Amino acid sequence: MPADIAARLDQVRARIRRAAESCGRDPASVRLVAVAKTFPAGHVRRAAAAGATDVGENYIQEAREKVEALSGLGLRWHFIGHLQRNKAGQAVRLFDLIHTVDSARLGAEIDRAAARMGKRQDVLVQVNVAGEATKSGVAPDEVAPLVRELSAMGALRVRGLMTMPPFFDEPERVRPFFAELRRIAERIRALGLPNAGMDELSMGMTGDFEAAIAEGATLVRVGTAIFGGRS
Ligand SMILES: *Cc1c(COP(=O)(O)O)cnc(C)c1O
Repeated sequence: MPADIAARLDQVRARIRRAAESCGRDPASVRLVAVAKTFPAGHVRRAAAAGATDVGENYIQEAREKVEALSGLGLRWHFIGHLQRNKAGQAVRLFDLIHTVDSARLGAEIDRAAARMGKRQDVLVQVNVAGEATKSGVAPDEVAPLVRELSAMGALRVRGLMTMPPFFDEPERVRPFFAELRRIAERIRALGLPNAGMDELSMGMTGDFEAAIAEGATLVRVGTAIFGGRS
């Protein structure tokens, strides 16, 4: 598998380029986050050697080992898992962008930790677009009030929104949820809140990233298509 990582990465990049071009977008406006959960640091190193710049991780403990082992590579690290408040400090220390803020209490914990470290922490707000009981994220009508609260926290910088839509075999059925995330971001952008840019939309995984790109994704989180299946 490791030997295939460079080839798989090339294929994913080609698919991103085609998806962007087919809807008139600049391929450079879509950043690929290589999701490495469950895979060892060596796999990430190979991806980095093949040009990967951004890595996604779901678990703090697992990420810490990889961030430390690969600290010389200049990678940008993305936290995409569920973040417990008592891990906020570690997340701030390890990650460039935290995609999964879904409450003011979690935001406040991240803000405190970032202030302590003298860091400005970039975050996204996770939105549960379909209102699924099993998924994290705020409901669509709670996004604006939450972004307003977060934007008042001095050590945070809100960069946009993230979603994990319901699973469907056909990506076209997921597309309306991506479109909804984009509309929510547009409504918030229109509020003109200071310190709350809405330039980033984190959406799309192995099965549906082309549909997400068609709806405006700027960060696609792709694991399986790069590293293979997880056991
Ligand atoms: C695991 C994971 C991904 C990557 O999923 P693949 O289907 O393997 O591409 C993307 N986003 C989140 C939040 C994940 O947990």
